[in-house]
Parts: sequence; C-alpha cells; structure tokens
Amino acid sequence: MSVVIAVTNQKGGVGKTTSAVNIAYYLAKSGKRVLLVDLDPQGNASSGLGIDKANLQATMSEVLLGTAEMDACIIATEHKNLSLAPTTSHLANAEVEMAKLDRKFARLKTALATVSDRFDFILIDSPPSLSLLTVNGLIAARYVLLPVQAEFYALEGLGQLLETMKLVRKGMNPSLELLGVLPTMMDTRTTLSNQVYEEIKKHFAGKVFQTTIPRNIRLAEAPSHGVPIGAYDRWSKGARAYKAVAKEVVERVG
Ligand code: ATP
Ligand code: MG
Repeated sequence: MSVVIAVTNQKGGVGKTTSAVNIAYYLAKSGKRVLLVDLDPQGNASSGLGIDKANLQATMSEVLLGTAEMDACIIATEHKNLSLAPTTSHLANAEVEMAKLDRKFARLKTALATVSDRFDFILIDSPPSLSLLTVNGLIAARYVLLPVQAEFYALEGLGQLLETMKLVRKGMNPSLELLGVLPTMMDTRTTLSNQVYEEIKKHFAGKVFQTTIPRNIRLAEAPSHGVPIGAYDRWSKGARAYKAVAKEVVERVG
C-alpha cells in the first residue's frame, strides 16, 4: 500500500508544483517507488518533468471520467523510480463532466487504489482552488503537505482550506492528516520573510517542517529544462532543501 500525499494550497503560485515535483524526485532517488499525479489542468508538473503532452495515450482526464484505466495513463520518467500520471488542459473540461458523474468525489481515490501496490508514495499536485479536483485529492490522500509562501498574505485563505479538510475528515476520509507545513520562497535576509516564518510556526505549532525552502532562481529555471532541480543543479540551495524535505517526509510518515 502506498502513502498518498496531496500537495495542496488553494492560493496560486505558492510552490505546490515545485514542491511536488522535487519531493517526488528525491523520494524516488532515495529508492522509493514514486508516482506523481498531476491534478492541475495547468499541467505544470507534467511539463516540469519534460513530458511531451501531444503524444500521450491517456491522461488523468480520461481516468477521472472512467474511459481509461489508471494504469494506462502512468508513464515512466527518465528518472529511476519516478512515474507520472500526466494531465493536459483538457482536465478543466473533464472536471465539469466529472461533476455530473456518480461518486464524483471519490473518483481519484478509486483510480489510485488500482495501482497503490506498485508505489511506496503517491504525490498529488493540486490546482490553486478548492475545486472538485482538489477535493478528490483530499479524499484520496492520507496526508496533506501544505506549502506556504513566506510573504505577507501567506496565512490568508488557509482557514478555508483547513475547514475543507475538516469537512472531508467528518465525511469521506476520516484519516486525512496534515503532514506538515512547508515554508517556501524564504528570503532569510528580509525581516518580512522571518516575521512570516515566525507567524507560520505560531499558527501551526509542531506541524512546520524543520527545513524551509529558500528563494532560489535555480528552482525556477529547472522546469524550463523539463527536469527536477536534482537533475539540473543538485548542489544548489534549492536542491539541498528539497532533498532534506523528502527525508523529513519519510520520517514523518514513519
Ligand atoms: P499554481 O498555484 O499556479 O499551481 P504553484 O503553487 O504550483 O502554482 P509553483 O508553480 O511551484 O507554484 O511556483 C510558482 C512560481 O514560482 C514558478 O515560476 C516557480 O518556478 C517559482 N518558484 C517556486 N518555488 C521557488 C523558489 N523556492 N525560489 C524561486 N522561485 C520559485
Ligand atoms: Mg502548480
């Protein structure tokens, strides 16, 4: 059975995809069998891994609509132990269609169950909304990894996410847990970054990862080369930080 982790924050541009791709990469590098599920119609996780979206047999759209098996959509990446369930912009339409189907909240959970014996970890990259797709992620997952950008409005809107998690816990997924809060794009030279970090720690006592992710241009460059940071500049600050976070993830899930 795999450990399913949804990387979620309905705020846009906080580092969800960067975290999902790079944590997945370092988990795979440490020998875990990892599946990264791209659940965002933007398809950033798919492009970030250099996938040619024009030549896909099946994507998460078909899987969620029930016209393809999960297994048919999974592709191996050029990185050992790392597989991807890709997505294209069609997922936006698929989400609308999916809303009309039976068991619309549990479709991802059902699909992942068919492949869960093949992976140690399944990471889900969520879209920046509290949409049906995001809720499917929360219902399929055992844990939520919450990236929070160290900037002024960081904590705004998080109440809504925590509320949604509570509802999911009361309803379809009682075992959903916050795995940890990951401060991203930290600039320790600025007072603001440090203040926000302190506030995050106060707000989420005991739940904040020891490691924080620095603002690092190499992390922003890697996707344009279609590779995780570890395959682009493994000695960069960003690479070392994500490697450390992946280690913490393994420790936290015990
Ligand atoms: P969305 O909500 O649109 O899906 P996201 O939460 O997935 O966004 P990312 O795409 O990971 O966020 O990051 C937003 C932008 O910031 C991207 O251009 C990414 O390359 C850049 N970025 C992410 N993390 C860092 C970092 N630590 N340092 C510098 N740039 C970063
Ligand atoms: Mg993203």
